[in-house]
Amino acid sequence: MSKLIDSFGRQINYVRLAVTDRCNLRCQYCMPAHGIDIVPRKEMLTYKEMYRIVRVLTELGVKKVRLTGGEPFVRKGFVDFLEMLSYNDLLEDINITTNGALIYKHIATLEKLQKVKNINLSIDSLKASTFNEITRRNVFDEVFKTMEALERSSMNLKLNVVIQSGINTSEITDFVRLTKDKDMAVRFIEEMPFNGEGQRETLENWNYSKILKEIKTQFDVSEIQSEKSSTSRNFSIEDHKGSVGIIPAFTRTICGDCNRIRITSTGTFKNCLFDDGVFNLRDFIRNGASNEDLKTLFLSLVKEKPENGFVAEANRKKGDVSESMSTIGG
Ligand code: SAM
Ligand code: SF4
Repeated sequence: MSKLIDSFGRQINYVRLAVTDRCNLRCQYCMPAHGIDIVPRKEMLTYKEMYRIVRVLTELGVKKVRLTGGEPFVRKGFVDFLEMLSYNDLLEDINITTNGALIYKHIATLEKLQKVKNINLSIDSLKASTFNEITRRNVFDEVFKTMEALERSSMNLKLNVVIQSGINTSEITDFVRLTKDKDMAVRFIEEMPFNGEGQRETLENWNYSKILKEIKTQFDVSEIQSEKSSTSRNFSIEDHKGSVGIIPAFTRTICGDCNRIRITSTGTFKNCLFDDGVFNLRDFIRNGASNEDLKTLFLSLVKEKPENGFVAEANRKKGDVSESMSTIGG
């Protein structure tokens, strides 16, 4: 079987697929208060098109898919799509990134889908007022309840916490404290400028080192040997059930082991979070491409994968990175 191997020898076995660009929240670091210009529905990939793309990718060695958005659960039929994807015998893991505001009632169904093993829940504050200020919506209680239910569920739970200067940095150690009794991984993410021209001003640069320093003010951490392609550097703390991690998303020190490609909700193929999209799969499919055509295409597209996010950014034709993560598929 041909495998997806880029020109730096990295094997691609993970695809991040944005199932929609729509969202029920308006996180300050992700989009402006009025939201983003969403694409017309017919420009989004259908579930059948997504299924087919993932199937072809798995025939080329992809084993994991992460479903993201926008908010995946706002798209009608998303839970049925998860079931449909689970029938792909070549796929091992279906992971989901969600804001958690709409999923409480689906948790039991998700647990039954054996390939759905990992849920990443985004929660940037443990205080209702700060959370509501960040998301510009009043859903803290629902998301907190969902977090607790997910922690009790059979799925692995990871929290995504975007560190925002002047907003939630004082809560870093509170989040770490949560891992004492809760079996989950709390991962702090460096804030990036992907906010759909939301124009956020950052007072201080909360990068990987600064976040780690803040954690160490109260905890003794030991680094855990993570999977080579892990997006986070992870740490354990004695007597804590869970673990903590830091995702150096913006300082990009993890690119050397990247195993990922991305597909946006409109079918744009991206080799890197920081590139501006290298191919429109939707039009290719709608113009009659066969699965063999798709395979040939994917094998050649990954050869263009840039060495790292800085090279990808430098090669952009559209100028600075300013799209919302909701469009890119975070
Ligand atoms: N709506 C879902 C959610 O919030 O989990 C999935 C999509 S969201 C774009 C995926 C992840 O990207 C979330 O964890 C979110 O916090 C993160 N994200 C969004 N904008 C970001 C930014 N400007 N910098 C860093 N992370 C960001
Ligand atoms: Fe929506 Fe997720 Fe962006 Fe927040 S981070 S606005 S929940 S897509």
